[in-house]
Amino acid sequence: MKVTEIFEAKKKTGKPVLSFEIFPPKKEEALKNIDATLEKLCDLHPDFISVTFGAGGSTVDNKTVEIAKKIKNTYGVEPIVHLTCLHYGKEEISGILKQLEEAGIENVLALRGDVNPNIPVKYDFQYANELVEFIKTQGNFHISGACYPETHLEAKDAITDIHNLKRKVDAGVTHLVSQLFFDNEAFYRFYEKTRIAGISTPVEAGIMPVTNKANIERMVNLCGASLPKKFERILKKYENNKEALLDAGMAYAINQIVDLIANDVDGVHIYTMNNSKVAGRICDGIRNLI
Ligand code: FAD
Repeated sequence: MKVTEIFEAKKKTGKPVLSFEIFPPKKEEALKNIDATLEKLCDLHPDFISVTFGAGGSTVDNKTVEIAKKIKNTYGVEPIVHLTCLHYGKEEISGILKQLEEAGIENVLALRGDVNPNIPVKYDFQYANELVEFIKTQGNFHISGACYPETHLEAKDAITDIHNLKRKVDAGVTHLVSQLFFDNEAFYRFYEKTRIAGISTPVEAGIMPVTNKANIERMVNLCGASLPKKFERILKKYENNKEALLDAGMAYAINQIVDLIANDVDGVHIYTMNNSKVAGRICDGIRNLI
């Protein structure tokens, strides 16, 4: 089923879409445990699960496709396969899309990706909108895209970033997933700007539950999300108490989601970090809202 159909079906229920993101583990040991993680995540009945894609290398990262196939065939949940393009040529992208088509996987999240200094950049694609245009020529895929409520770090300013986002939508993206954020007001301001710019696609709000301070600091450095004062206080107070930080982090994420749903958000995308317990705790906290 295509993501657009999922949104249409969910709209009739008056409830937002709920989705998860997972990544293919790098270590063989963790890869062996992915089935147990998938089983628990799928038991929480997300509307779909997206699987991240590596920056590239000498061989195409097949783990993403393999995991997506499992999600679809073993657990009956719709997968979205992320695809990045800076380190891949048209032929490689075309090859991956063929694999997806053969596996009956209809949903792709088209991304530019970031430069990995250890891998040469292929110059077939410079920005995600070019990948979107290419995917459109390769089959009947539903194409999602990424967006940045607090502006992409490389963008000149917020308005330029929104104009560039519109290019992606005009190229064929019909669903957006946001970068993680901790300040809902930033998301609401961004959403408003997308509507003013003529973007009418659903925008899923990306929520990353805090499980440890180092992880959050790393992610915040990578993506530039701002930390509201009340969130900073939690990090400071519980930085040396793992269990308490987890409790407070869950409460914060649940509060964020409740507020988003009260404001009629299109969907909530949980960056699970492959932690099914954390995803489970969040779902318990919002069970009657989704
Ligand atoms: P783009 O949409 O191409 O935007 C990148 C920058 O270029 C922005 O500053 C934008 O304003 C500007 N821009 C865009 N189009 C144009 C244009 N035509 N002309 C001039 N400027 C332009 N990374 C991974 O490696 N693997 C993943 O699986 C992955 N999953 C992600 C999932 C989500 C939901 C998000 C939010 C991010 C994900 N990322 C992933 C990270 C992502 O690859 C980076 O944030 C990357 O820097 C930008 O990718 P993009 O597709 O948003 O790029």
